[in-house]
Amino acid sequence: MAATMLRQHPCTPLPLPADAVRLDVPVQTPAVARRTGAGVDGLQVEELDHHDRLAAMRDGRLGSVHSWELVTAVDGPGTRLTVFLNGCPLRCLYCHNPDTFAMRDGQPVTSDELLTRLARYRAVFAATGGGLTLSGGEVLMQPAFAARVLRGAKELGVHTAIDTSGYLGQNASDALLADVDLVLLDVKSGDPDTYRRVTGRDLEPTLAFGRRLAERADGPEVWVRFVLVPGLTDDVDNVERVAAYAAELNGIRPGTVTRVEVLPFHQMGRDKWQALGRDYALDDTQPPTAELTDRVRAQFRAHGLTTY
Ligand code: SF4
Repeated sequence: MAATMLRQHPCTPLPLPADAVRLDVPVQTPAVARRTGAGVDGLQVEELDHHDRLAAMRDGRLGSVHSWELVTAVDGPGTRLTVFLNGCPLRCLYCHNPDTFAMRDGQPVTSDELLTRLARYRAVFAATGGGLTLSGGEVLMQPAFAARVLRGAKELGVHTAIDTSGYLGQNASDALLADVDLVLLDVKSGDPDTYRRVTGRDLEPTLAFGRRLAERADGPEVWVRFVLVPGLTDDVDNVERVAAYAAELNGIRPGTVTRVEVLPFHQMGRDKWQALGRDYALDDTQPPTAELTDRVRAQFRAHGLTTY
């Protein structure tokens, strides 16, 4: 289905449900500690006809969007338009964005609308080496929408990134991947049991997706991201497995993993869990100490990986 969709120019206006939401929110001020944008406040969201909405989402004309913002020095190089999509198959204990779990909770936004917005910032992207990042939630929950937006971005000459757990890597067609310059690959643990404890899902699809990226001769650059949670992901062997995996990707295609980001756990997502009435398992967990973070970064560096 994605291949069929990609034969059409993504900017080509297509018939849409008349009540599709127009994306017209103010640009957000960059914030170092944010995990999602400030939403799509101010939009008049109307109920779409169920069948029209499904059809538009199936072919990527319409996506379910949580929020978006302009940021610098996060989510990839330069200044970026980061779009957070709704829907995620994982249930990470430390998730900052539990309000993105369900696709139905997002706002219906057209790919054309996003691309029109994206085009306004081309000069900013060019000046800063920035571009577009599709995040979530899980971007590959909406592969047709992602593919259409990524294709449109490339036709605008804009650098593209996706932030993904890789769990749904099979949803990414080769055509979609050809339009991705950078993958922010969130490897949430290296030990399968720990991965399941952290996410509720299996590790293997993530590993397979990363290998597939590395095996592409013209594949994207990869930044591996690892959230360090004391008492959950900090076991030496668990970290070692992630580091060895990242190094393995560079063994497949040298230069694949150009950066590892060790992200210290923090409690900024707790309020969202409580507001949503969800049980939050990490109430008593503290952020890692500087010493622990240094130890973990040193483990990655020992594998020859540029680590932050
Ligand atoms: S993959 Fe991301 S959005 Fe999904 S549950 Fe994990 S942290 Fe949250």
